[in-house]
Amino acid sequence: MSKRFEGKVVIVTGASSGIGRETAIQFAGEGASVVLAARREAQTAEVVQQIRQHGSEAMFVRTDVTNVASLEALVAITIKTYGRLDCAFNNAGIAGDAMKATADHSEENWNAVLATNLTGVWLSMKYEIPAMLKSGGGCIVNASSTYGLKPSTAGHVPYAAAKHGVIGLTKTAALEYAKTGLRINAICPGWTHSEMVDPALEALPEQLGSLINQDVPMARVADATEIARAVLWLCSDESSYVTGHPLCVDGGWVAR
Ligand code: NDP
Repeated sequence: MSKRFEGKVVIVTGASSGIGRETAIQFAGEGASVVLAARREAQTAEVVQQIRQHGSEAMFVRTDVTNVASLEALVAITIKTYGRLDCAFNNAGIAGDAMKATADHSEENWNAVLATNLTGVWLSMKYEIPAMLKSGGGCIVNASSTYGLKPSTAGHVPYAAAKHGVIGLTKTAALEYAKTGLRINAICPGWTHSEMVDPALEALPEQLGSLINQDVPMARVADATEIARAVLWLCSDESSYVTGHPLCVDGGWVAR
């Protein structure tokens, strides 16, 4: 059976752990050359090694999505190494402070969350889009969240504001480039096992357990592989008529 991403070059930001790690592994398993972008070198090198052991092509580029020069370099190194860019999953993100009311958040936390989760996505697209257009288009998936469509139930208004912003960014860009061969969508995961979520689940099992039961009709936390599969679909030819769409992978949460 032919692999869906044979000959394609893919950037995944935030590929050192969680959803980004799983997505990078799935892209590589389907034939893509994958550029894994994150700040932690040793952790990401382990993922690159795992991908190469399975006979696929991958490399690590140390990247901080809050730094414009870092993102310009990420795309430049990708083009220099692999000659093109076909797909990007702009996934890097942080939770920031949680379980606080709006007026109790610090300006520092607000700025950090917005810089990573919203400005970081825009800056990624700023360099990815021209690179993709040079080879006739491509696919971008931006990481939003259920909290990009619904209010935060976890007391993290900066996070919800940033994730709502990602949807506005995605829809606007999708329309601007709709005739160019470039599709731009967002993924809206619900609660998903990752380094962002698992420590909180361990620290507050009862509080978060009842929150999840109340929010999520399926009453369980997703595995990162379930989100990764949806990202690959949005980047594949199977979704060729889908653009500007926030795709919920949320156990039914947004339907509630
Ligand atoms: P993880 O904490 O496991 O992964 C976050 C990734 O982002 C890490 O690889 C981290 O790498 C990277 N990252 C953070 N800041 C930066 C930065 N400044 N520059 C580059 N990379 C950065 O969490 P998840 O896998 O859960 O999160 C992935 C995305 O999914 C996020 O955008 C998150 O908001 C979103 N999401 C997650 C949900 C969940 O329940 N898990 C639900 C909805 C959305 P490093 O530290 O090495 O730089």
